[in-house]
Amino acid sequence: MAGHDQQKQCDIGLIGLGVMGSSFALNMADHGFSVAGYNREEEKIRRLAEIKSEHHKIETTRDLRQLAQMLRTPRAIVLLVPAGPAVDAVIENLVPHLERGDLIIDSGNSHFTDTDRRGAALDVKGLRFMGMGMSGGESGARHGPSLMPGGPEQAYARVRPILEAVAAHVGAMPCVAHLGPGSAGHYVKMVHNGIEYGMMQLIAESYDLMKRALDLHTDQLHIVYERWNRRALNGYLMEITAEIFLRKDERTGQPLIDLILDEARQKGTGEWTVADALQVQVPTLNIDAAVMMRHLSGFKAQRQAAALLIKGPDPLYAGDKPAFIDRLENALHAAVIITYAQGMALLKQASAVYGYHLNLETVARVWTGGCIIRSALLADIQAAYKADPQLENLLVAPPLNQVLTSLQADLRAVLRVAVDLGIPVPGLMMALAYWDAYRSSRLPANLIMAQRDYFGSHTYERVDAKGKFHTRWDRSG
Ligand code: NDP
Repeated sequence: MAGHDQQKQCDIGLIGLGVMGSSFALNMADHGFSVAGYNREEEKIRRLAEIKSEHHKIETTRDLRQLAQMLRTPRAIVLLVPAGPAVDAVIENLVPHLERGDLIIDSGNSHFTDTDRRGAALDVKGLRFMGMGMSGGESGARHGPSLMPGGPEQAYARVRPILEAVAAHVGAMPCVAHLGPGSAGHYVKMVHNGIEYGMMQLIAESYDLMKRALDLHTDQLHIVYERWNRRALNGYLMEITAEIFLRKDERTGQPLIDLILDEARQKGTGEWTVADALQVQVPTLNIDAAVMMRHLSGFKAQRQAAALLIKGPDPLYAGDKPAFIDRLENALHAAVIITYAQGMALLKQASAVYGYHLNLETVARVWTGGCIIRSALLADIQAAYKADPQLENLLVAPPLNQVLTSLQADLRAVLRVAVDLGIPVPGLMMALAYWDAYRSSRLPANLIMAQRDYFGSHTYERVDAKGKFHTRWDRSG
Protein backbone atom coordinates (compact mmCIF):
# COMPACT_ATOMS: atom_id res chain seq x y z
CA MET A 1 0.00 0.00 0.00
CA ALA A 2 1.07 3.58 -0.61
CA GLY A 3 2.80 5.47 2.17
CA HIS A 4 2.89 9.23 2.63
CA ASP A 5 6.26 9.49 0.86
CA GLN A 6 4.82 7.97 -2.31
CA GLN A 7 2.39 10.87 -2.78
CA LYS A 8 2.69 12.34 -6.28
CA GLN A 9 5.92 10.45 -6.96
CA CYS A 10 5.06 7.70 -9.37
CA ASP A 11 5.73 8.10 -13.11
CA ILE A 12 2.77 6.14 -14.35
CA GLY A 13 -0.43 4.53 -13.10
CA LEU A 14 -1.78 1.12 -14.08
CA ILE A 15 -5.31 -0.10 -13.49
CA GLY A 16 -5.96 -3.85 -13.72
CA LEU A 17 -3.15 -6.04 -12.41
CA GLY A 18 -4.28 -9.20 -14.22
CA VAL A 19 -2.22 -11.25 -16.68
CA MET A 20 -1.27 -8.28 -18.88
CA GLY A 21 -1.34 -5.52 -16.27
CA SER A 22 1.00 -7.16 -13.75
CA SER A 23 3.45 -8.11 -16.52
CA PHE A 24 3.39 -4.61 -17.96
CA ALA A 25 3.90 -3.08 -14.50
CA LEU A 26 6.99 -5.25 -13.98
CA ASN A 27 8.26 -4.35 -17.48
CA MET A 28 7.94 -0.60 -16.78
CA ALA A 29 9.57 -1.03 -13.36
CA ASP A 30 12.42 -3.03 -14.96
CA HIS A 31 13.17 0.08 -17.00
CA GLY A 32 13.39 2.28 -13.92
CA PHE A 33 9.91 3.83 -14.03
CA SER A 34 7.96 4.00 -10.81
CA VAL A 35 4.50 2.49 -11.14
CA ALA A 36 1.34 3.05 -9.12
CA GLY A 37 -0.86 -0.02 -9.59
CA TYR A 38 -4.55 -0.37 -8.80
CA ASN A 39 -6.60 -3.53 -8.65
CA ARG A 40 -10.19 -4.01 -7.49
CA GLU A 41 -9.56 -7.32 -5.73
CA GLU A 42 -6.79 -7.90 -3.19
CA GLU A 43 -5.62 -11.21 -4.65
CA LYS A 44 -3.85 -9.82 -7.73
CA ILE A 45 -2.15 -7.16 -5.61
CA ARG A 46 -0.83 -9.92 -3.34
CA ARG A 47 0.35 -11.97 -6.31
CA LEU A 48 2.23 -9.00 -7.78
CA ALA A 49 3.85 -8.31 -4.39
CA GLU A 50 5.09 -11.92 -4.38
CA ILE A 51 6.70 -11.79 -7.83
CA LYS A 52 8.16 -8.28 -7.91
CA SER A 53 11.74 -7.84 -6.75
CA GLU A 54 13.12 -5.25 -4.37
CA HIS A 55 14.40 -2.98 -7.12
CA HIS A 56 10.94 -2.72 -8.73
CA LYS A 57 9.38 0.60 -7.76
CA ILE A 58 5.76 -0.55 -7.76
CA GLU A 59 3.27 0.75 -5.21
CA THR A 60 -0.23 -0.68 -5.12
CA THR A 61 -3.64 0.33 -3.90
CA ARG A 62 -7.30 -0.68 -4.09
CA ASP A 63 -8.43 2.95 -3.85
CA LEU A 64 -8.65 5.07 -7.03
CA ARG A 65 -8.39 8.32 -5.06
CA GLN A 66 -5.17 7.11 -3.54
CA LEU A 67 -3.94 6.01 -6.96
CA ALA A 68 -4.44 9.56 -8.24
CA GLN A 69 -2.56 10.92 -5.22
CA MET A 70 0.39 8.60 -5.89
CA LEU A 71 0.98 9.97 -9.40
CA ARG A 72 2.99 12.98 -10.48
CA THR A 73 0.90 15.46 -12.47
CA PRO A 74 -0.17 15.69 -15.20
CA ARG A 75 -1.02 12.05 -14.62
CA ALA A 76 -0.75 9.20 -17.09
CA ILE A 77 -2.73 6.05 -16.28
CA VAL A 78 -2.80 2.85 -18.33
CA LEU A 79 -5.91 0.63 -18.20
CA LEU A 80 -5.51 -3.11 -18.71
CA VAL A 81 -9.01 -4.36 -17.98
CA PRO A 82 -11.39 -6.37 -20.19
CA ALA A 83 -12.82 -4.47 -23.16
CA GLY A 84 -16.41 -3.25 -22.88
CA PRO A 85 -18.35 -2.16 -19.77
CA ALA A 86 -15.34 -2.63 -17.44
CA VAL A 87 -13.44 0.14 -19.26
CA ASP A 88 -16.42 2.51 -18.95
CA ALA A 89 -16.87 1.61 -15.28
CA VAL A 90 -13.20 2.23 -14.49
CA ILE A 91 -13.20 5.57 -16.36
CA GLU A 92 -16.37 6.69 -14.60
CA ASN A 93 -14.92 5.89 -11.16
CA LEU A 94 -11.51 7.35 -11.96
CA VAL A 95 -12.46 10.67 -13.54
CA PRO A 96 -13.60 12.39 -10.28
CA HIS A 97 -10.03 11.98 -8.98
CA LEU A 98 -8.33 13.45 -12.06
CA GLU A 99 -7.46 17.00 -13.11
CA ARG A 100 -7.45 18.78 -16.47
CA GLY A 101 -4.62 17.55 -18.70
CA ASP A 102 -4.41 14.09 -17.10
CA LEU A 103 -4.12 11.22 -19.57
CA ILE A 104 -5.90 7.86 -19.63
CA ILE A 105 -4.46 5.17 -21.94
CA ASP A 106 -6.76 2.24 -22.63
CA SER A 107 -4.45 -0.61 -23.57
CA GLY A 108 -7.01 -3.40 -23.64
CA ASN A 109 -8.59 -4.76 -26.80
CA SER A 110 -11.34 -2.14 -26.98
CA HIS A 111 -13.50 -1.73 -30.05
CA PHE A 112 -12.34 1.33 -31.97
CA THR A 113 -15.76 2.99 -31.92
CA ASP A 114 -15.76 2.81 -28.09
CA THR A 115 -12.36 4.48 -28.12
CA ASP A 116 -13.68 7.36 -30.25
CA ARG A 117 -16.70 7.73 -27.97
CA ARG A 118 -14.58 7.75 -24.79
CA GLY A 119 -12.04 10.14 -26.30
CA ALA A 120 -14.76 12.64 -27.19
CA ALA A 121 -16.44 12.39 -23.76
CA LEU A 122 -13.15 12.87 -21.88
CA ASP A 123 -12.06 15.71 -24.14
CA VAL A 124 -15.09 17.70 -23.00
CA LYS A 125 -13.83 17.30 -19.42
CA GLY A 126 -10.34 18.52 -20.36
CA LEU A 127 -8.86 15.04 -20.01
CA ARG A 128 -6.69 13.33 -22.64
CA PHE A 129 -7.42 9.81 -23.86
CA MET A 130 -5.44 7.35 -25.94
CA GLY A 131 -6.38 3.91 -27.25
CA MET A 132 -3.28 1.77 -27.36
CA GLY A 133 -3.25 -1.76 -28.77
CA MET A 134 -0.82 -4.09 -27.06
CA SER A 135 0.26 -7.41 -28.56
CA GLY A 136 2.56 -10.19 -27.49
CA GLY A 137 0.49 -11.79 -24.76
CA GLU A 138 1.78 -12.13 -21.23
CA SER A 139 5.41 -12.59 -22.23
CA GLY A 140 5.26 -9.60 -24.59
CA ALA A 141 3.79 -7.37 -21.87
CA ARG A 142 6.54 -8.55 -19.49
CA HIS A 143 9.57 -8.42 -21.78
CA GLY A 144 8.64 -6.11 -24.67
CA PRO A 145 5.29 -5.88 -26.45
CA SER A 146 4.41 -4.36 -29.78
CA LEU A 147 2.51 -1.19 -28.87
CA MET A 148 -0.01 0.51 -31.16
CA PRO A 149 -0.95 3.88 -29.66
CA GLY A 150 -3.39 6.31 -31.24
CA GLY A 151 -4.92 9.56 -30.04
CA PRO A 152 -3.70 13.12 -29.51
CA GLU A 153 -0.07 13.45 -30.59
CA GLN A 154 0.85 15.73 -27.65
CA ALA A 155 -0.47 13.11 -25.24
CA TYR A 156 1.71 10.48 -26.91
CA ALA A 157 4.75 12.74 -26.64
CA ARG A 158 4.34 12.74 -22.84
CA VAL A 159 4.48 8.97 -22.46
CA ARG A 160 6.75 8.29 -25.43
CA PRO A 161 9.96 7.78 -23.34
CA ILE A 162 8.21 5.14 -21.23
CA LEU A 163 6.60 3.37 -24.19
CA GLU A 164 9.80 3.36 -26.24
CA ALA A 165 11.74 1.93 -23.31
CA VAL A 166 9.32 -0.92 -22.57
CA ALA A 167 8.34 -1.91 -26.13
CA ALA A 168 10.03 -4.76 -28.00
CA HIS A 169 13.10 -3.67 -29.93
CA VAL A 170 14.23 -4.83 -33.35
CA GLY A 171 17.81 -3.66 -33.58
CA ALA A 172 17.72 -0.20 -32.05
CA MET A 173 14.12 0.47 -33.14
CA PRO A 174 11.32 0.25 -30.54
CA CYS A 175 8.15 -1.47 -31.77
CA VAL A 176 5.96 1.51 -30.95
CA ALA A 177 5.00 4.69 -32.78
CA HIS A 178 2.18 7.18 -32.70
CA LEU A 179 -0.04 5.69 -35.40
CA GLY A 180 -2.66 8.37 -35.83
CA PRO A 181 -5.46 10.35 -34.18
CA GLY A 182 -8.55 9.04 -32.40
CA SER A 183 -8.96 5.29 -32.49
CA ALA A 184 -6.12 4.65 -34.99
CA GLY A 185 -4.18 2.52 -32.49
CA HIS A 186 -7.08 0.28 -31.58
CA TYR A 187 -8.05 -0.07 -35.24
CA VAL A 188 -4.54 -1.21 -36.14
CA LYS A 189 -4.60 -3.67 -33.21
CA MET A 190 -7.95 -5.02 -34.38
CA VAL A 191 -6.58 -5.66 -37.88
CA HIS A 192 -3.42 -7.15 -36.33
CA ASN A 193 -5.70 -9.66 -34.62
CA GLY A 194 -7.62 -10.28 -37.86
CA ILE A 195 -4.36 -11.11 -39.64
CA GLU A 196 -3.45 -13.30 -36.66
CA TYR A 197 -6.72 -15.25 -37.13
CA GLY A 198 -5.95 -15.67 -40.85
CA MET A 199 -2.40 -16.90 -40.22
CA MET A 200 -3.46 -19.32 -37.47
CA GLN A 201 -6.09 -20.84 -39.76
CA LEU A 202 -3.50 -21.32 -42.53
CA ILE A 203 -1.01 -22.96 -40.16
CA ALA A 204 -3.78 -25.19 -38.80
CA GLU A 205 -4.62 -26.28 -42.37
CA SER A 206 -0.98 -27.16 -43.06
CA TYR A 207 -1.02 -29.27 -39.86
CA ASP A 208 -4.25 -30.98 -40.92
CA LEU A 209 -2.77 -31.86 -44.31
CA MET A 210 0.39 -33.28 -42.78
CA LYS A 211 -1.49 -35.18 -40.09
CA ARG A 212 -4.35 -36.56 -42.16
CA ALA A 213 -2.82 -36.88 -45.62
CA LEU A 214 0.79 -37.67 -44.72
CA ASP A 215 0.12 -39.33 -41.35
CA LEU A 216 3.02 -37.46 -39.69
CA HIS A 217 3.31 -37.88 -35.93
CA THR A 218 4.00 -34.99 -33.59
CA ASP A 219 7.79 -35.41 -33.48
CA GLN A 220 7.89 -35.23 -37.29
CA LEU A 221 5.55 -32.21 -37.27
CA HIS A 222 7.90 -30.50 -34.83
CA ILE A 223 10.81 -31.06 -37.20
CA VAL A 224 8.88 -29.68 -40.20
CA TYR A 225 7.70 -26.49 -38.45
CA GLU A 226 11.08 -26.00 -36.85
CA ARG A 227 12.68 -26.18 -40.32
CA TRP A 228 10.10 -23.80 -41.80
CA ASN A 229 10.78 -21.40 -38.96
CA ARG A 230 14.42 -21.20 -40.03
CA ARG A 231 13.43 -20.11 -43.55
CA ALA A 232 11.04 -17.65 -45.22
CA LEU A 233 8.17 -18.40 -42.82
CA ASN A 234 10.21 -17.51 -39.73
CA GLY A 235 8.02 -15.84 -37.12
CA TYR A 236 6.36 -16.09 -33.73
CA LEU A 237 3.44 -18.32 -34.75
CA MET A 238 5.74 -20.75 -36.55
CA GLU A 239 8.03 -20.80 -33.51
CA ILE A 240 5.27 -21.67 -31.03
CA THR A 241 3.70 -24.17 -33.44
CA ALA A 242 6.99 -26.10 -33.62
CA GLU A 243 7.20 -26.07 -29.82
CA ILE A 244 3.59 -27.18 -29.32
CA PHE A 245 4.28 -30.49 -31.09
CA LEU A 246 7.01 -31.33 -28.58
CA ARG A 247 4.83 -30.97 -25.49
CA LYS A 248 3.73 -34.19 -23.77
CA ASP A 249 0.72 -34.36 -21.47
CA GLU A 250 1.86 -34.63 -17.86
CA ARG A 251 -0.97 -37.00 -16.95
CA THR A 252 -0.85 -39.47 -19.83
CA GLY A 253 2.53 -38.92 -21.48
CA GLN A 254 0.76 -38.55 -24.85
CA PRO A 255 1.36 -35.58 -27.16
CA LEU A 256 -0.73 -32.82 -25.55
CA ILE A 257 -1.96 -31.54 -28.93
CA ASP A 258 -3.79 -34.84 -29.52
CA LEU A 259 -5.76 -34.36 -26.29
CA ILE A 260 -6.96 -30.82 -26.99
CA LEU A 261 -10.60 -30.51 -28.07
CA ASP A 262 -10.90 -29.30 -31.67
CA GLU A 263 -13.31 -26.43 -30.98
CA ALA A 264 -11.70 -23.00 -31.47
CA ARG A 265 -12.91 -20.24 -29.17
CA GLN A 266 -12.68 -16.52 -29.94
CA LYS A 267 -12.92 -13.26 -28.05
CA GLY A 268 -14.28 -11.25 -30.98
CA THR A 269 -11.50 -9.17 -32.50
CA GLY A 270 -11.50 -11.34 -35.66
CA GLU A 271 -15.24 -10.81 -36.04
CA TRP A 272 -14.82 -7.07 -35.49
CA THR A 273 -12.24 -7.00 -38.29
CA VAL A 274 -14.55 -8.83 -40.67
CA ALA A 275 -17.50 -6.62 -39.70
CA ASP A 276 -15.59 -3.42 -40.33
CA ALA A 277 -14.06 -4.78 -43.54
CA LEU A 278 -17.66 -5.23 -44.73
CA GLN A 279 -18.45 -1.71 -43.57
CA VAL A 280 -15.59 -0.08 -45.49
CA GLN A 281 -15.99 -2.59 -48.34
CA VAL A 282 -12.57 -4.21 -48.39
CA PRO A 283 -12.36 -7.95 -49.12
CA THR A 284 -10.58 -9.87 -46.35
CA LEU A 285 -11.28 -13.41 -47.54
CA ASN A 286 -8.66 -15.07 -45.33
CA ILE A 287 -9.82 -13.34 -42.17
CA ASP A 288 -13.46 -14.13 -42.99
CA ALA A 289 -12.60 -17.80 -43.58
CA ALA A 290 -10.66 -17.99 -40.33
CA VAL A 291 -13.54 -16.60 -38.28
CA MET A 292 -16.08 -18.86 -40.02
CA MET A 293 -13.91 -21.94 -39.52
CA ARG A 294 -13.70 -21.21 -35.79
CA HIS A 295 -17.50 -21.14 -35.79
CA LEU A 296 -17.67 -24.36 -37.82
CA SER A 297 -15.24 -26.05 -35.43
CA GLY A 298 -17.77 -25.35 -32.69
CA PHE A 299 -20.31 -27.69 -34.31
CA LYS A 300 -18.42 -30.64 -32.86
CA ALA A 301 -21.42 -32.85 -32.11
CA GLN A 302 -22.91 -32.25 -35.55
CA ARG A 303 -19.55 -32.93 -37.20
CA GLN A 304 -19.17 -36.19 -35.30
CA ALA A 305 -22.65 -37.29 -36.37
CA ALA A 306 -22.09 -36.22 -39.97
CA ALA A 307 -18.75 -38.07 -40.11
CA LEU A 308 -20.66 -41.32 -39.67
CA LEU A 309 -23.16 -40.45 -42.40
CA ILE A 310 -21.14 -38.69 -45.11
CA LYS A 311 -18.23 -40.44 -46.78
CA GLY A 312 -15.52 -38.55 -48.63
CA PRO A 313 -12.36 -39.82 -50.36
CA ASP A 314 -9.55 -41.67 -48.58
CA PRO A 315 -7.45 -38.83 -47.08
CA LEU A 316 -4.09 -40.64 -47.36
CA TYR A 317 -1.66 -39.13 -49.86
CA ALA A 318 0.02 -41.71 -52.07
CA GLY A 319 2.66 -39.43 -53.63
CA ASP A 320 6.14 -38.30 -52.63
CA LYS A 321 5.76 -37.02 -49.04
CA PRO A 322 8.97 -34.93 -48.71
CA ALA A 323 8.22 -33.22 -52.03
CA PHE A 324 4.66 -32.47 -50.86
CA ILE A 325 5.98 -30.97 -47.61
CA ASP A 326 8.23 -28.64 -49.63
CA ARG A 327 5.28 -27.60 -51.81
CA LEU A 328 3.17 -27.06 -48.69
CA GLU A 329 5.84 -24.74 -47.26
CA ASN A 330 5.66 -22.66 -50.43
CA ALA A 331 1.86 -22.70 -50.45
CA LEU A 332 1.79 -21.49 -46.84
CA HIS A 333 4.39 -18.84 -47.61
CA ALA A 334 2.23 -17.49 -50.46
CA ALA A 335 -0.98 -17.61 -48.43
CA VAL A 336 0.56 -15.78 -45.46
CA ILE A 337 1.77 -12.94 -47.73
CA ILE A 338 -1.73 -12.74 -49.25
CA THR A 339 -3.28 -12.59 -45.76
CA TYR A 340 -1.01 -9.70 -44.76
CA ALA A 341 -1.95 -8.02 -48.06
CA GLN A 342 -5.66 -8.18 -47.18
CA GLY A 343 -5.06 -6.73 -43.71
CA MET A 344 -2.90 -3.91 -45.06
CA ALA A 345 -5.46 -3.14 -47.78
CA LEU A 346 -8.10 -2.86 -45.05
CA LEU A 347 -5.88 -0.48 -43.07
CA LYS A 348 -5.31 1.66 -46.16
CA GLN A 349 -9.03 2.03 -46.79
CA ALA A 350 -9.94 2.51 -43.11
CA SER A 351 -7.27 5.17 -42.83
CA ALA A 352 -8.97 7.12 -45.61
CA VAL A 353 -12.50 6.56 -44.25
CA TYR A 354 -11.72 7.36 -40.59
CA GLY A 355 -9.00 9.98 -41.18
CA TYR A 356 -6.23 8.04 -39.41
CA HIS A 357 -3.42 9.09 -41.81
CA LEU A 358 -1.73 5.76 -41.20
CA ASN A 359 1.79 5.26 -42.42
CA LEU A 360 1.75 1.58 -43.40
CA GLU A 361 5.54 1.33 -43.35
CA THR A 362 5.40 2.36 -39.68
CA VAL A 363 2.60 -0.12 -38.96
CA ALA A 364 4.68 -2.94 -40.50
CA ARG A 365 7.70 -1.82 -38.47
CA VAL A 366 5.75 -1.80 -35.20
CA TRP A 367 4.73 -5.39 -35.94
CA THR A 368 8.27 -6.65 -36.63
CA GLY A 369 8.88 -7.42 -32.95
CA GLY A 370 6.98 -8.30 -29.79
CA CYS A 371 3.68 -9.25 -31.39
CA ILE A 372 1.90 -12.44 -32.38
CA ILE A 373 2.08 -11.76 -36.14
CA ARG A 374 5.75 -10.77 -36.14
CA SER A 375 7.54 -12.60 -38.92
CA ALA A 376 10.49 -12.26 -41.26
CA LEU A 377 8.02 -11.40 -44.05
CA LEU A 378 7.25 -8.06 -42.37
CA ALA A 379 10.70 -6.78 -43.37
CA ASP A 380 9.69 -7.19 -47.05
CA ILE A 381 6.30 -5.60 -46.34
CA GLN A 382 7.95 -2.65 -44.60
CA ALA A 383 10.34 -2.28 -47.56
CA ALA A 384 7.42 -2.35 -50.01
CA TYR A 385 5.69 0.60 -48.27
CA LYS A 386 8.98 2.44 -47.91
CA ALA A 387 9.52 2.15 -51.67
CA ASP A 388 5.93 3.25 -52.39
CA PRO A 389 3.97 4.80 -49.48
CA GLN A 390 0.87 5.01 -51.71
CA LEU A 391 0.99 1.31 -52.65
CA GLU A 392 -2.57 0.13 -53.39
CA ASN A 393 -1.95 -3.51 -52.51
CA LEU A 394 1.08 -5.54 -51.46
CA LEU A 395 0.34 -8.07 -54.21
CA VAL A 396 1.65 -5.64 -56.82
CA ALA A 397 4.77 -4.56 -54.88
CA PRO A 398 7.69 -5.69 -57.08
CA PRO A 399 9.56 -8.15 -54.81
CA LEU A 400 6.40 -9.67 -53.29
CA ASN A 401 4.78 -9.95 -56.71
CA GLN A 402 7.78 -11.94 -57.96
CA VAL A 403 7.78 -14.17 -54.87
CA LEU A 404 4.05 -14.92 -55.20
CA THR A 405 4.35 -15.60 -58.91
CA SER A 406 7.10 -18.13 -58.20
CA LEU A 407 5.09 -19.79 -55.39
CA GLN A 408 1.73 -19.99 -57.15
CA ALA A 409 2.34 -23.37 -58.81
CA ASP A 410 2.91 -25.00 -55.42
CA LEU A 411 -0.17 -23.33 -53.90
CA ARG A 412 -2.26 -24.69 -56.79
CA ALA A 413 -0.66 -28.15 -56.47
CA VAL A 414 -1.34 -28.34 -52.73
CA LEU A 415 -4.96 -27.29 -53.26
CA ARG A 416 -5.45 -29.97 -55.91
CA VAL A 417 -4.23 -32.61 -53.44
CA ALA A 418 -6.41 -31.24 -50.62
CA VAL A 419 -9.48 -31.24 -52.88
CA ASP A 420 -8.78 -34.77 -54.12
CA LEU A 421 -8.29 -36.09 -50.58
CA GLY A 422 -11.28 -34.22 -49.13
CA ILE A 423 -9.32 -32.23 -46.54
CA PRO A 424 -10.83 -28.76 -45.91
CA VAL A 425 -8.39 -25.92 -46.57
CA PRO A 426 -10.56 -22.79 -46.92
CA GLY A 427 -7.72 -20.46 -45.92
CA LEU A 428 -5.39 -21.71 -48.66
CA MET A 429 -8.31 -21.64 -51.11
CA MET A 430 -9.27 -18.08 -50.20
CA ALA A 431 -5.67 -16.94 -50.56
CA LEU A 432 -5.48 -18.27 -54.10
CA ALA A 433 -8.98 -16.97 -54.94
CA TYR A 434 -8.05 -13.49 -53.69
CA TRP A 435 -4.79 -13.53 -55.65
CA ASP A 436 -6.44 -14.81 -58.84
CA ALA A 437 -9.31 -12.33 -58.53
CA TYR A 438 -7.03 -9.39 -57.81
CA ARG A 439 -4.92 -10.16 -60.89
CA SER A 440 -8.01 -10.55 -63.14
CA SER A 441 -8.57 -7.47 -65.26
CA ARG A 442 -12.01 -8.84 -66.00
CA LEU A 443 -14.25 -10.65 -63.50
CA PRO A 444 -17.74 -12.09 -64.17
CA ALA A 445 -19.37 -9.19 -62.31
CA ASN A 446 -20.84 -8.09 -65.67
CA LEU A 447 -23.19 -11.07 -65.47
CA ILE A 448 -24.16 -10.19 -61.91
CA MET A 449 -24.98 -6.65 -63.07
CA ALA A 450 -27.07 -8.03 -65.95
CA GLN A 451 -28.98 -10.29 -63.53
CA ARG A 452 -29.57 -7.39 -61.12
CA ASP A 453 -30.84 -5.26 -63.94
CA TYR A 454 -33.02 -8.14 -65.23
CA PHE A 455 -34.87 -8.81 -61.95
CA GLY A 456 -34.65 -5.45 -60.22
CA SER A 457 -34.05 -2.77 -62.88
CA HIS A 458 -30.91 -1.84 -60.93
CA THR A 459 -29.18 -0.54 -64.12
CA TYR A 460 -25.62 -1.23 -65.24
CA GLU A 461 -22.67 0.67 -66.64
CA ARG A 462 -21.11 -0.12 -70.04
CA VAL A 463 -17.48 -0.60 -71.01
CA ASP A 464 -17.97 1.49 -74.15
CA ALA A 465 -20.05 4.46 -72.95
CA LYS A 466 -20.57 6.56 -69.81
CA GLY A 467 -23.83 6.62 -67.84
CA LYS A 468 -26.36 4.20 -66.34
CA PHE A 469 -28.25 1.82 -68.61
CA HIS A 470 -31.31 -0.35 -68.25
CA THR A 471 -32.52 -3.08 -70.56
CA ARG A 472 -36.01 -4.61 -70.74
CA TRP A 473 -34.54 -8.12 -70.59
CA ASP A 474 -37.91 -9.87 -70.97
CA ARG A 475 -38.39 -8.28 -74.41
CA SER A 476 -36.40 -9.52 -77.39
CA GLY A 477 -33.78 -6.97 -78.52
P1 NDP B 1 -7.23 -10.55 -16.83
O1 NDP B 1 -8.55 -11.22 -16.75
O2 NDP B 1 -6.03 -11.32 -16.47
O3 NDP B 1 -7.26 -9.25 -15.91
C1 NDP B 1 -8.32 -8.35 -15.98
C2 NDP B 1 -8.09 -7.24 -14.98
O4 NDP B 1 -9.14 -6.30 -15.12
C3 NDP B 1 -8.08 -7.71 -13.55
O5 NDP B 1 -7.09 -7.03 -12.88
C4 NDP B 1 -9.48 -7.31 -13.05
O6 NDP B 1 -9.50 -6.99 -11.69
C5 NDP B 1 -9.71 -6.05 -13.84
N1 NDP B 1 -11.14 -5.75 -13.96
C6 NDP B 1 -12.07 -6.47 -14.61
N2 NDP B 1 -13.27 -5.84 -14.53
C7 NDP B 1 -13.06 -4.71 -13.83
C8 NDP B 1 -13.90 -3.64 -13.43
N3 NDP B 1 -15.20 -3.61 -13.76
N4 NDP B 1 -13.36 -2.64 -12.69
C9 NDP B 1 -12.05 -2.66 -12.37
N5 NDP B 1 -11.20 -3.64 -12.73
C10 NDP B 1 -11.71 -4.64 -13.45
O7 NDP B 1 -7.14 -9.94 -18.31
P2 NDP B 1 -5.87 -9.68 -19.24
O8 NDP B 1 -4.80 -9.06 -18.41
O9 NDP B 1 -5.56 -10.90 -20.01
O10 NDP B 1 -6.46 -8.64 -20.28
C11 NDP B 1 -6.56 -7.25 -20.04
C12 NDP B 1 -6.81 -6.56 -21.36
O11 NDP B 1 -5.70 -6.80 -22.23
C13 NDP B 1 -8.05 -7.05 -22.11
O12 NDP B 1 -8.66 -6.00 -22.80
C14 NDP B 1 -7.47 -8.03 -23.10
O13 NDP B 1 -8.29 -8.20 -24.25
C15 NDP B 1 -6.15 -7.34 -23.46
N6 NDP B 1 -5.13 -8.20 -24.01
C16 NDP B 1 -4.89 -9.43 -23.47
C17 NDP B 1 -3.91 -10.25 -24.02
C18 NDP B 1 -3.60 -11.60 -23.43
O14 NDP B 1 -2.82 -12.33 -24.07
N7 NDP B 1 -4.13 -11.95 -22.26
C19 NDP B 1 -3.11 -9.80 -25.17
C20 NDP B 1 -3.41 -8.46 -25.62
C21 NDP B 1 -4.40 -7.71 -25.05
P3 NDP B 1 -10.04 -8.00 -10.53
O15 NDP B 1 -8.85 -8.78 -10.10
O16 NDP B 1 -10.50 -7.08 -9.49
O17 NDP B 1 -11.12 -8.82 -11.15
